[in-house]
Amino acid sequence: MKMCTKIMTELSDYLDEGIDPALRAEIEQHLIKCKNCRIVVNTTKKTIDIFCNSEPAAIPETTRQKLYEALQRKMRSCRS
Ligand SMILES: [Zn+2]
Repeated sequence: MKMCTKIMTELSDYLDEGIDPALRAEIEQHLIKCKNCRIVVNTTKKTIDIFCNSEPAAIPETTRQKLYEALQRKMRSCRS
């Protein structure tokens, strides 16, 4: 599996801290090198922060849209 795809698969565990330390280290190494994955991880983290600091289900539509677009871009670049 490509590392970019793997990160997308493990992203929620990674952000939850519920991830194997070896895999976490592997992901962090990849994030240093791969700007696309870094953007996806940062965007997702921001979205979660917004979600945690606001009323339930109050993720702004624009944020959700941006996250979705970032994921779509990521998926496309991984396939090419
Ligand atoms: Zn990547």
